[in-house]
Amino acid sequence: MPTSGSVPSKINLGFLPTALEPMPRLSSLLGGPQIWIKRDDCTGLGGGGNKTRKLEYLMAEARRQGADTVITAGALQSNHARQTAAAAAKLGMGCVLVLTEAVYGRDALYEHNGNMLLNDLFGAEVIRLPAGSDSSAAMADVAARLAAAGKHSSIIPIGGSNGLGALAYADAMAEVKQQAQAFGIRFDRIFVASGSGGTQAGLVGGLHRSGLDAKIQGISVSASEAELTAKLAGILAELDPLLGGSTPVSLIHTDARQVGAAYGQPTDAMREAVRVVARHEGVLLDPVYTGKAMAGLFAAIRGGEVGPDETVLFWHTGGSQGLFAYQSEF
Ligand SMILES: *Cc1c(COP(=O)(O)O)cnc(C)c1O
Repeated sequence: MPTSGSVPSKINLGFLPTALEPMPRLSSLLGGPQIWIKRDDCTGLGGGGNKTRKLEYLMAEARRQGADTVITAGALQSNHARQTAAAAAKLGMGCVLVLTEAVYGRDALYEHNGNMLLNDLFGAEVIRLPAGSDSSAAMADVAARLAAAGKHSSIIPIGGSNGLGALAYADAMAEVKQQAQAFGIRFDRIFVASGSGGTQAGLVGGLHRSGLDAKIQGISVSASEAELTAKLAGILAELDPLLGGSTPVSLIHTDARQVGAAYGQPTDAMREAVRVVARHEGVLLDPVYTGKAMAGLFAAIRGGEVGPDETVLFWHTGGSQGLFAYQSEF
């Protein structure tokens, strides 16, 4: 992390600001509320997605540390790993991905297509580990191996979810505030997929800093509500000094009802959400994150938690490349 007091620097990697668009056909299909979408699936870098914003800070920090190679970790179909590989390629750096076979019962497409195909095209070295492996230890081993070969590496955490990565989503909240003002709208709620937590933590920190009062609903894709809340509080503790404030943990709202059997395991509600949004808006969601987050929004509307007069933002975080790893589910 940068020394306190200095403003962290960024490397421009994405096409920003991303578009903010209404979803009129989806809104009328669901009987109101007014649903808008923030197109962070279109950040541009190597297929795009939410990790691009985080990597603008994280790659700048790696460079500041003198790194010629970055190391990160995730599941085989990690969108974070794929965007990190693309960022490294763009900046002329090496990239080693430690990818765990964390999702059971998948087929050959999961193993080789989607993000795995793209990692290879971006020239990353992939190290595959069986489920349950200690990826932090494996990343430290890679760093030692690279050091012995005279390389300087920097480890980027899973999902890019530390305070510095989350700072990019506090910035993104300021971006949305400006866009909403330009459209003359005000969001009552924001729905976002939440995994390693950096995106939601950043949005919550940014919300507090911007003086907005939307309710940010994080739809968990893996952890229980208590686990995810603890993770978010930990990231906020790193982010707050960078924002120069203190974000109340009461702004953290999590919903773990869409996880299904486990991380990366399809649910019927996810399949419905992916199909409906594709057919009504021409927008591609993904099976692991945004399909489940949209299923959470559908459920909240149908269950009356979100009223027909509300204005809702669905924050699209990317991941459609993962559809090609889940062909058999559709
Ligand atoms: C990583 C990811 C998320 C979750 O973001 P976190 O910051 O890890 O919580 C959501 N959607 C997609 C498509 C992702 O790749």
